Amino acid sequence: MKLLCIGRNYAAHAAELQNDLPAKPVVFLKPATAILASDTALHLPAFSQDVQYECELVFRVGQPGRHITEADAMDHLDAVTVGLDFTARDLQAELKQQGLPWELAKAWDGSAALGQWQPLVNVPTWPDLPFALHIDGQLRQTGDPRLTLFSLPYLVAFLSEFFTLQPGDLIFTGTPAGVGPLQSGQTLVGSLCGNEVLRVKVA
Ligand code: MN
Repeated sequence: MKLLCIGRNYAAHAAELQNDLPAKPVVFLKPATAILASDTALHLPAFSQDVQYECELVFRVGQPGRHITEADAMDHLDAVTVGLDFTARDLQAELKQQGLPWELAKAWDGSAALGQWQPLVNVPTWPDLPFALHIDGQLRQTGDPRLTLFSLPYLVAFLSEFFTLQPGDLIFTGTPAGVGPLQSGQTLVGSLCGNEVLRVKVA
């Protein structure tokens, strides 16, 4: 299985990192070893001095497909949760400056936290899926999927032109503004439609 991740999908987040708005989706992948289950600890890696949180809506593929149309896109997804795309921002800045791929900054072990899966039949229809991240009780990020540059059906169609989608594959749909650095001892809580679905402690 694979984690397909979208970058710069919220204009305000692209702006906070001084990035131009993309004309088509910015895509990167993480391996299965990046997954960090909810209620486990994140161990900050020694190779970075600036690991940052990015709270994102994550969708799970239920039905396989390629060359999926936007009209059929939602039929290929079966669950949603809130995830955290942990990013070694210092490494990413070096790689971006050199025009190199982002994997060392983005795809390391534990860099993709996942909350409890919510079957799509049990939650409101996209894009009525507001989400939020609290750190130590303070609101740090709020996400409204209506504000994405690329809609979820468009992303599924776009991704499936390049990658066969297989059951269990995950799509990280990008983070809103408000990203920032992590520190040991913090507790991150992600919520979907006002309900807690994700909890990660920074070791
Ligand atoms: Mn991200």
